[in-house]
Amino acid sequence: MAYGRVERLDNLLFRPYAYLSMTDRLYYRDSFLYDFDAEVRSVLESPRPALILDRTAFYPTSGGQIHDTGWISPAASNASGAEASEKFRVTEVVDTEDGHIVHYLEAPLKDIKPGSRIRGEIDPARRRDHMQQHSAQHVLSSAFVRLFGMPTVSFHMADDYCSIDLDTPSLTQNQIEAAERLANEIVIENRPVDIRFSTREEAAALGLRKIPSAERDQLRLIDIHDFDLTACGGTHVAHTGQIGSILLRKFEKVRHGYRLEFVAGLRAIATARRDFSTLTDTAALFSANIYDVPQQARKSLDEIKALRKQREQSLEDLAAAQAQTLLAEVPERNGRRLVVRTFTDRDLNFIKLLAQKLTRQATAVALLATESPTPALVFAQTAGQSYDMAALLKQTLAKLGGRGGGTKDLAQGGAPSAEGLAGALAAAAETLAA
Ligand SMILES: [Zn+2]
Repeated sequence: MAYGRVERLDNLLFRPYAYLSMTDRLYYRDSFLYDFDAEVRSVLESPRPALILDRTAFYPTSGGQIHDTGWISPAASNASGAEASEKFRVTEVVDTEDGHIVHYLEAPLKDIKPGSRIRGEIDPARRRDHMQQHSAQHVLSSAFVRLFGMPTVSFHMADDYCSIDLDTPSLTQNQIEAAERLANEIVIENRPVDIRFSTREEAAALGLRKIPSAERDQLRLIDIHDFDLTACGGTHVAHTGQIGSILLRKFEKVRHGYRLEFVAGLRAIATARRDFSTLTDTAALFSANIYDVPQQARKSLDEIKALRKQREQSLEDLAAAQAQTLLAEVPERNGRRLVVRTFTDRDLNFIKLLAQKLTRQATAVALLATESPTPALVFAQTAGQSYDMAALLKQTLAKLGGRGGGTKDLAQGGAPSAEGLAGALAAAAETLAA
């Protein structure tokens, strides 16, 4: 999830903050701290304006969780500073490899130097949403381990949904529903979620769900009472009830297991609302109850299939009948009948079908065209005759400015306009009579 981070830091060319001590992460101890004061340690101008502080409550993108946003403003310098100072938007927060947190700002903060005091405010709605999603992930990952022994190998948080990758060769709808149920029971039980710190040795003895591979002496543990204990640096709720609800959605096979999408908290409500609206709109099209939509849709698709088949048969019959009429209208000359006809409203498929009928029902040459919906030509002859339909068509299209091709016995093409079609057909017929 450290998108763009490496590139951005390389762009800095040097690290003016490398000598600074690591940023004190206030969110490590309190996820509900939305306002804080801090001292500026470093001001960066390139590639974007940014600040490094001595301490921060802003969470940087890491561990699958996306960063906080919010505002930074200069702290009031005196007692008369009641007047609200200008706020600057924090658009992105990143973690550097040497333990600093960089706050990217929409615009440079005026008159801010190392040593200046600032006030930071986290966007509370976004933070709450992230706490809900991330805490839901802990509950869900533990539910899959407890019920089916399926470990979570990665977690991804996007703006609209989250996903976990489960290390398992198979995953069924029933298993998903069972895990969803257990996870929501843990939410309803409103279990305390504590933050604890321990050494790696202590953590190993506690039976963690997952021990991070990073070489760190002290681990930050998230303890969902009697349900899940795992090392994590993210922001979490204080009680599972604050997650609200957990809704599992799409799952798909990925290279090393299954990817499962979920939404929690207000995202679950928003998603359910959107699902319901979509389903309601669809049900209205069928004048049906929403729960009858799959049955109605299936029925409609079956009807469409049957009608398509009927239509094909009708066109076959119509073409055969029309071919018979057309053949009766023209005299036989030199052992063959020449049918030349321009239609005003038949599609290419129909005149092709008609040409096939004409040249099968009798020894014939058919020069057919249609003016709309799309101007098109079909030239056909009963096999075994000496003409070349592809060549004749090519000659005719050259005059009309169209394109097409085919074989000696059947060729088709399109013309840019209906103008001159009938004349071109008559000219082509004359070359056959010559
Ligand atoms: Zn976590």
